[in-house]
Amino acid sequence: MLSSSSLSSSALGIPTDEEQATGLERKVMKALEKGLDPYSMFPPKRHAGTKEDPNIVPSITDKRIVGCICEEDNSAVIWFWLHKGEPQRCPSCGAHYKLVPHQLP
Ligand SMILES: [Zn+2]
Repeated sequence: MLSSSSLSSSALGIPTDEEQATGLERKVMKALEKGLDPYSMFPPKRHAGTKEDPNIVPSITDKRIVGCICEEDNSAVIWFWLHKGEPQRCPSCGAHYKLVPHQLP
């Protein structure tokens, strides 16, 4: 007879929070590869990107990948991971980005 403790969530096929987050990140990466914008991460109006006015980045997890077009006419996009908490800066141009919690509709 099985005790409830022997039934781990993974054995039941229920993904843990971590596995779900990984799945979401995979979805995001897939969408990005297709040139889609899964989070509307290229808003028409950009914030100044200064420490006082960072670019606001909504995320459904506590980290996400961010694409920075460092200059308006730049065709290269700098991708980097943004984590919840203190604003982070683009490693190329130094623009500030801040992750804010976002709920899916
Ligand atoms: Zn940049």
